[in-house]
Amino acid sequence: MRITVDEEKCCGAGQCVVIAPEVFDQRDEDGIVVLLDASPAADRYEGARESAGVCPAAAIQLHEDA
Ligand code: SF4
Repeated sequence: MRITVDEEKCCGAGQCVVIAPEVFDQRDEDGIVVLLDASPAADRYEGARESAGVCPAAAIQLHEDA
C-alpha cells in the first residue's frame, strides 16, 4: 500500500490522526495533515483504510496495489 494526501483538500479535522497516529500527524500551525508513513507496513493498513474512510474532506488516497 502507498498513501498520498491532498493538503489542499484537508480541513484539519484530525480524525486521521486520532485513528492512525503512527501514519498521520497534523501541522502545528494550521492542523493540515502531515503524512508520516507513505508506505506503511501491513499492520498499519487497517488504520490507514479507516482514516481514509472517515476523512470528511476525502483528502487521503490509498493506492492498495502499490
Ligand atoms: S481526517 Fe482528513 S481532513 Fe482531517 S486532518 Fe486528516 S486528512 Fe485532514
